Amino acid sequence: MLMSDTRAWLEIDLSKISHNVKEIQKLLPSTSKIMAIVKANAYGHGDVACAKELSRCGIDFFGVSSVDEGISLREGGIREPILILGYTPPVHFHQVIQHDLIQTFLSLDYAKKANAWCKEHGVIMHGHVKVDTGMSRLGIITQQQDYRIEEVKEVYHLPHIAVDGIFSHFSVSDGLDEDNKAYTRKQIMLFDQVLKDLEDAGIDVGIRHLQNSYGILNYPDLKYDYVRPGLLFLGATSDDAIDTITHPDFQPIMQLKANISMVKTIQPGVCVSYGRHFTSERISRIATVSIGYADGYPRSVSNKGACALLHGKRVPIIGNICMDQMMLDVTDIKHVKEGDVVTLFGCDGDEKLPIDELTRLAQTINNETFCWMSARLPRIYK
Ligand SMILES: *Cc1c(COP(=O)(O)O)cnc(C)c1O
Repeated sequence: MLMSDTRAWLEIDLSKISHNVKEIQKLLPSTSKIMAIVKANAYGHGDVACAKELSRCGIDFFGVSSVDEGISLREGGIREPILILGYTPPVHFHQVIQHDLIQTFLSLDYAKKANAWCKEHGVIMHGHVKVDTGMSRLGIITQQQDYRIEEVKEVYHLPHIAVDGIFSHFSVSDGLDEDNKAYTRKQIMLFDQVLKDLEDAGIDVGIRHLQNSYGILNYPDLKYDYVRPGLLFLGATSDDAIDTITHPDFQPIMQLKANISMVKTIQPGVCVSYGRHFTSERISRIATVSIGYADGYPRSVSNKGACALLHGKRVPIIGNICMDQMMLDVTDIKHVKEGDVVTLFGCDGDEKLPIDELTRLAQTINNETFCWMSARLPRIYK
């Protein structure tokens, strides 16, 4: 076990990434490769650390959300192709070129701007064109009601940009009711139609990719060149209560831990924390833990039955969660002392506390819970 001299930290077991990658690969046709999405600091897990490990596992393409995230990977020594999935303001176009990044051409107007900028500077910008088959976020609209294939073709024909690939994004690939499955099938159908129309026009579409994590879990048979998981190689889904068609054995790589700073005995009728939402009913042992909402543990789960692990057992978090601290009722645990390690999610001995439990209490998805983990928490890698 890793011990730490900090007040709170994230333990990240990179060695499990290769297991998770293999579990993804087992689902996919042998012709589909993985573009690992490591945006938002790899959902808080550390972009460079994860990308290096993924690269060791044979991953040869990365995706990020912004030019800065692409630069972070380059400065961390990542040499593989990196696709920026989102918007780069034109004032930063030079950085796309300088760091050899691949830009998403998210509309015809935007592609024309990039084209004009490249013409002016005598360079070629590489990119993938995005088509909007149903998410209505980024991409040239290619939906049933408004199918703008001519705009997509125009992007391919702009002379100063190189379109090396094409992609779209699912909006309800996690939905297994008939209506949502039909919607996703429609998105697949539209994407295939776009590919066909481009190929019929003699255009080499380049690399094709469509599936995010749930697109892989629920539509594993699709045969595009790449898939784009973010969550899965981290050993997580959005919520383990969401049903999926396939059930790979993913192993979570992140655990959240903190130290106990003080243990005290309080009499019955004593209030704990801001707002006095917990009052002791018996002589109680209260442990103060050095982690709070400024570290990313959500205050919204206060007084909702959230738990932590201590000495391999579940203990209740009591009263309001503070900015830098929280309190546990450890009356039923023996020999609790300052410096003992508390697990906020992860495992302690045989006891497991999945992040999914915290996520459900906070009424969100694991994607967001990961992103809450603040920069104040050191990432300790195994
Ligand atoms: C974030 C993102 C992904 C990865 O999503 P997961 O659900 O984490 O797999 C894939 N594609 C695009 C365009 C994204 O924005």
